[in-house]
Amino acid sequence: MLKICCIGAGYVGGPTMAIVAYKCPDIQVAVVDISSSRIAAWNSSSLPVFEPGLDDIVMSCRGRNLFFSTDVEKHVADADIIFVSVNTPTKRQGLGAGKAADLTYWESAARLIADVSTSDKIVVEKSTVPVKTAEAIERILTHNSNGVRFQILSNPEFLAEGTAINDLLHPDRVLIGGRSTPEGQAAVNTLVSVYAHWVPADRIISMGLWSAEISKLAANAFLAQRISSINAMSALCEATSADVTQVAYAVGKDSRVGHRFLNASVGYGGSCFQKDILNLVYICECNGLTEVANYWKQVVQLNDYQKSRFVKRIVSSMFNTVAQKKMAILGFAFKKDTGDTRETPAIDVCQGLLRDNAHLSIYDPQVTEEQIRHDLDMDNPDETHGRSKQINIVSDVYEATEGAHGVCIMTEWDEFKTLDYERIFKHMQHPSFIFDGRNVIDADRLRKIGFIVYSIGKPLDP
Ligand code: NAD
Repeated sequence: MLKICCIGAGYVGGPTMAIVAYKCPDIQVAVVDISSSRIAAWNSSSLPVFEPGLDDIVMSCRGRNLFFSTDVEKHVADADIIFVSVNTPTKRQGLGAGKAADLTYWESAARLIADVSTSDKIVVEKSTVPVKTAEAIERILTHNSNGVRFQILSNPEFLAEGTAINDLLHPDRVLIGGRSTPEGQAAVNTLVSVYAHWVPADRIISMGLWSAEISKLAANAFLAQRISSINAMSALCEATSADVTQVAYAVGKDSRVGHRFLNASVGYGGSCFQKDILNLVYICECNGLTEVANYWKQVVQLNDYQKSRFVKRIVSSMFNTVAQKKMAILGFAFKKDTGDTRETPAIDVCQGLLRDNAHLSIYDPQVTEEQIRHDLDMDNPDETHGRSKQINIVSDVYEATEGAHGVCIMTEWDEFKTLDYERIFKHMQHPSFIFDGRNVIDADRLRKIGFIVYSIGKPLDP
């Protein structure tokens, strides 16, 4: 029986390996992590990651051929294939701080693999890493003293949070990068045979290691660039009374462009886009490609601009101050169908409103109070007399809007489309403002109720 071990039981490692176990009953899959609380949650009825469809899949395989464990050494030593899906955040300090990827977690995983391996292994880069990371990993692995041979593959993950299960079951493509040597190609074939359990052959693409590593960064940069492009247009639409939804429709009708990822919003979030583009910028700079680096840097800068523009719009619309006003924040996750708040625009918007002394009442159907407290630094003792008093986290959307001067929609949760807005209007302060950061509500209907509605990239008074 082929044995797979995945180091890192996060948003990628957990769901990805659950699908491998689900689709390949003949393969034993162990997902390991240094975080005992995360592993305990994977072994409980309350999984640490919220993804539609994930619970059923995990429950159907857990204990059969899917195991979650903190015993990293044992499962690594036992495995034939080791996926490494640890976090690769932006480096906080030192050389490349603020841009380069922090490979600390990867390095320690690679050192552990080198230390404990006694049989030949295929090591798979699942995390998003800078190009040429495989070379650095090879250098660590050659220090194994047991004569073990390692083959490194790049197999970047393209799932999107919120649709992870569908993305994993029906991927647009599975990318496998390997060395062109016979051993490298044999390793590629082994990994192809795993995915072939459920992915059609024409969707499994093999290529060189460096191309596969760059492809992941390139894919995220292109996706984020589309969002920043339509968001740039949204600012122009607002300045000229055009409607960005109509513009996006017209542009997307061109079959060379297409409609997807052309929704204007308060900005993209999530753990990947910003960090991966900054990483790309850093790699370009290291290779002396200043103009290329500057081009991609603009994608991130535009996203920051969009978030601060949203805050400015809120404050200026509300008679140039939100001080002492109650603002209902609907949604805190960076997108719907996930509880993930990493780089969520809600953090920037809340911070902007807090700086102007607003009182916030925050509601999200999936994000925990503890997470919001952490993200807004509410437990920082220096902030006790300020922020904590200004923020209320509630579990009922109508409680959040009760007595509010304004409502800010920060996440496109479906439930926000069908709220009882008549009731909300009745219990809010008047005039009652709604700032739709995701363009999900029916602005015309809400205006008829009496709200003053601001949607991204649309005329204020159409
Ligand atoms: P995550 O932070 O949710 O999970 C990473 C896990 O690795 C953590 O639980 C951490 O405790 C564990 N870990 C770190 N070092 C370890 C070690 N030495 N041994 C054992 N466990 C260790 O991160 P994620 O969102 O799952 O992302 C993982 C990688 O996948 C990143 O490189 C990310 O860029 C990439 N990626 C993420 C997404 C996404 O939507 N989240 C999509 C595609 C690719």
